[in-house]
Amino acid sequence: MAKDNTSCSFCGREREETDILIAGISGHICNFCINQATDIVKQEIKVAPAVNAEESFKLLKPKDIMSHLNEYVIGQDDAKKILSVAVYNHYKRLSYPTNDDVELEKSNILLVGRTGTGKTLLAKTIAKMLNVPFCVADATVFTQAGYVGEDVESILSRLLQAANYDVEAAEKGIVFIDEIDKISRKGDNPSITRDVTSEGTQQALLKLLEGSEVQVPPEGGRKHPEAKMVTINTKNILFVAGGAFDGIERLIESRIKTQPLGFGASKNYIDEDNLLEHIGPQDVKKFGLIPELIGRFPVITHLNPLDAAALRRILTEPKNALVKQYIRMFEIDGVKLTFDKSGLDFIVDKANEYKLGARGLRSICEAILTDAMFEIPSSEDVKELKVDEEYAENKFGKSKLSKLKVA
Ligand code: ADP
Repeated sequence: MAKDNTSCSFCGREREETDILIAGISGHICNFCINQATDIVKQEIKVAPAVNAEESFKLLKPKDIMSHLNEYVIGQDDAKKILSVAVYNHYKRLSYPTNDDVELEKSNILLVGRTGTGKTLLAKTIAKMLNVPFCVADATVFTQAGYVGEDVESILSRLLQAANYDVEAAEKGIVFIDEIDKISRKGDNPSITRDVTSEGTQQALLKLLEGSEVQVPPEGGRKHPEAKMVTINTKNILFVAGGAFDGIERLIESRIKTQPLGFGASKNYIDEDNLLEHIGPQDVKKFGLIPELIGRFPVITHLNPLDAAALRRILTEPKNALVKQYIRMFEIDGVKLTFDKSGLDFIVDKANEYKLGARGLRSICEAILTDAMFEIPSSEDVKELKVDEEYAENKFGKSKLSKLKVA
């Protein structure tokens, strides 16, 4: 039989030296050259500028962001609108190359509002929507380097963990820093009331917010000398900070009352019941955050306290509202759970009475439903459960929660 003289047009190997030889229009390629070419393609694509940065997260328009937030967060329209614009601008900045003349600066966001009004929920909902890594860090556990407590870098370890150790993804994530008001120095005059530790913590945080390369221990916590550090660039991480800033209303009020007329809010239009909506950087500075740190939060907005009507809506309206969750849980056991109006009103009244806010709604529901959740899975004949005021009052009255002193 005549010898097959076909060979690879790239490396010249003859057919018998290859495992496979694929024919093209005017030549052949062997398996070795295919593998080599695949490696070259992979390398080239990696080196090439990120193919299309916005593809890794959807660049939603502010109105799209707002309507997504509306599905999960009740009320807080001012905060939602401001956040939607800030988040859109932030990711727009990431998605489009910077022009040499104009650098789009990052807009970290400061949310001021009582605890349990939805600050964390807002930040978490945005991160989930954009499909970027998200973590929450409590500012009170941090101290400046060398003091007892966690180093601020551990925030980034958490973000890295949330990103499944993908540094590139972590570098586009969102960090929520809770209780930022608790690291305020006492008063805003550094020379009289020097409060070294709070100020040191704020300075340490500043380093993260400034957009620098930070060495991060991958496991978090205190640095171990032997741990291999990971470098994370914080330039594109969006920081959202939240705090209750208890008493800041007084500072806002005194500023507004002493400010000359004709600029800013006119005294006649000030809503005394919701002074927070007039919050500005001056007030946060007076409260005790250092100006450099405030400068890193160009967007400041407020969250309103939740009244009974808002609590009622929180119970039933959001996509994963508590009531919907319990109904689903019982449904899995083949039981039709319903709440009537009086039952829902009871839950809201108790949350108000005990000053537990939205956070308390779950504990109250648990107190009311624990017995049923314990009994029903083992009983064949219960197919329905209706939570009305009588049922709720009876079960709640027997719970430990009801023994709490009303604040
Ligand atoms: P904050 O960060 O302001 O202290 P969170 O966002 O952690 O409060 O809120 C605690 C819980 O209360 C949330 O998980 C959510 O179930 C509920 N909640 C609070 N505010 C709202 C709101 N405006 N809309 C819907 N649910 C809310």
